[in-house]
Amino acid sequence: MVRDELDLAEYEARMDRPVRIKIPELQRDDRLKHVIFSDQFTADTLEEMANIADMIRVLAKSRDGYRFLLDLLPHKRAMLYFTQPSTRTFLSFMAACQILGITCNEVRDPSTSSETKGESRFDSIRTFSSYFDVIIMRSVHSRLAECCAYLMNDLEDFNHRSVPIVNGGAGADEHPSQALLDIYTLQRTFQFESTIDSRRRLGFDALCSDTRYTGLTRGLSGKVYGFCGDIGRGRTVRSLANLLSLYPNVTMVFLAPHHPKLSLKPELRRKLVDRGVKVHEVESLEDQIDGVPAIEMLDSLYMTRIQREHDDPADAQAFAQIDFSRYCLTPQLVSRMKEYAAILHPFPRDKNFGEIPPEIDNDHRAMYFRQARNGMWIRAALLAYLFGVDRQISRYFQTEYTETHDYNEDVL
Ligand code: ASP
Repeated sequence: MVRDELDLAEYEARMDRPVRIKIPELQRDDRLKHVIFSDQFTADTLEEMANIADMIRVLAKSRDGYRFLLDLLPHKRAMLYFTQPSTRTFLSFMAACQILGITCNEVRDPSTSSETKGESRFDSIRTFSSYFDVIIMRSVHSRLAECCAYLMNDLEDFNHRSVPIVNGGAGADEHPSQALLDIYTLQRTFQFESTIDSRRRLGFDALCSDTRYTGLTRGLSGKVYGFCGDIGRGRTVRSLANLLSLYPNVTMVFLAPHHPKLSLKPELRRKLVDRGVKVHEVESLEDQIDGVPAIEMLDSLYMTRIQREHDDPADAQAFAQIDFSRYCLTPQLVSRMKEYAAILHPFPRDKNFGEIPPEIDNDHRAMYFRQARNGMWIRAALLAYLFGVDRQISRYFQTEYTETHDYNEDVL
């Protein structure tokens, strides 16, 4: 139905292809042009993005560094076309643009655009591309960003103006830039070095001297990642699980009610298993896996809100039988988690449902506000990469910054 409303018919055949076939079309010379799917990122690109983000956040702290960043892209303009509610993604992209000197404009309500006069969504997008140098978009329509990337590619083929499309959340499908910031937060957490991410977190050596954590390694490989709550309807879960599956020897534990709309989708399960991920599905944080309660075995726990806005009256009866309190954390549960575990949440959290009550916010494992801030840095890194100034940042950082400042990890 959504496809008809938007008249995506001309892109149907291209949309129906496997993602791996589409990926080369979204690149130019081995670099990403459009960012539509989390599958476009490789472990190397993720490393590269994290390094750029680390440099940007250090540079942004000094007057000279900040000025250098501001002077990188003052000749570029970004359109934030967000027709589905958003706070963090919208604002952090806007802040990311501001860090790099990019000017932004926004359309958040299509009823204020010429679409009310019968203009097609694609004419609107093409018009934006005449005024702006990148279009960052969020839509309830899961494939719209993808189709806009095809539109831009077709324009390029005819030598018309064509700009990058960045998916800021597409329907129920994907949220690649959220996955980037989630990965970035985990990368930083499992370096076990950055004191500013949580001054009360123990360093690597202290953790290794604890017999409970024998064999602990730095990095994302070999870890146990938990996802709790609305797994079936959470696009952020799907995008992050995709990226984590790029790392060797990973285990994922999905904690969700046993209901086809809420639990892990069989397609995602298959994909993860095919990539060598060890997948467990349980119904509560207390359920045991190989004799250990799930909550005690996790290296990270990605909490999610129950997405009530997608409830269907037909499911009301089945949902009424579910004990949703099993998908809420408590301080007692948190105290049983590993000392170094990270609690993440894509936000917004639901204060009425209480999947993460505020009492947990000061626990050293709570990383969700750091995670939101990391979103601004990694989105700045993504934009720097898309506009090709990432190498300039590295050069400046190496020559001007590292040599003249007393640089250490604490400032990150
Ligand atoms: N902010 C996330 C998203 O856009 C998660 C959520 O809404 O619960 O998908």
